[in-house]
Amino acid sequence: MTGKRYKETVVAAGVTMLEEGLTVGTWGNISVRDPETGLVYISPSGMDYREIEPNDIVVLDNDLNIVDGARVPSIEKETHIAVYHSRPDVNAVVHTHPIYSTVLGVNGMDLPAISEDFAQIVGDKIICSIYALPGTKELGQNVAAGLGKERNAVLLPNHGTLCVGEDMKTALTVSHVVEKTAQIYILALSIGTPQLISAEDIKAMQDYKKNKYGQR
Ligand code: 13P
Ligand code: ZN
Repeated sequence: MTGKRYKETVVAAGVTMLEEGLTVGTWGNISVRDPETGLVYISPSGMDYREIEPNDIVVLDNDLNIVDGARVPSIEKETHIAVYHSRPDVNAVVHTHPIYSTVLGVNGMDLPAISEDFAQIVGDKIICSIYALPGTKELGQNVAAGLGKERNAVLLPNHGTLCVGEDMKTALTVSHVVEKTAQIYILALSIGTPQLISAEDIKAMQDYKKNKYGQR
């Protein structure tokens, strides 16, 4: 994929994130990594997603140096790079400010895998990471630690979520599934006691997704 294509991917993902109600205003941020060069294409800071053009995307190397782009990169660049450092399997990062996931984060609650899609694409659960101020190196460390090596999302207390995937399409799907599951979990808690899926069945669903699900 060309650099231009990576920039277009970030632009399109920003519009999707906004239109799907996963964030409001200019908040949230997105990046993709080119696995061949290791370069990271990240959204500019504080710009309207409907106005961002491919040339506004900032290209960073592994050490946070700007190698292309005239815009100020997202203030969460340290967090995106920290995640890529700790997760070689990840090539796309989506940070959003959605309602239901943030409610859990405000309460310091984790989100268990209470549905098939979540178990298959996100993990056995996601945890609420340790609080840090937005835009800090500490936030990056806490988010990378909270994400861990196996799970594809993490809650940021009093802030939002961070979701990852092998590519942007997957990371966006993870973002949707996390927010949908957070909504289901909160509604379920409000009228009764959510029934959890056993660790054995979560594993069975994950194996099925990996080896059998979909078109052969
Ligand atoms: P940026 O606009 O700089 O990406 O910041 C938005 C945000 O969500 C910070 O956490
Ligand atoms: Zn944010």
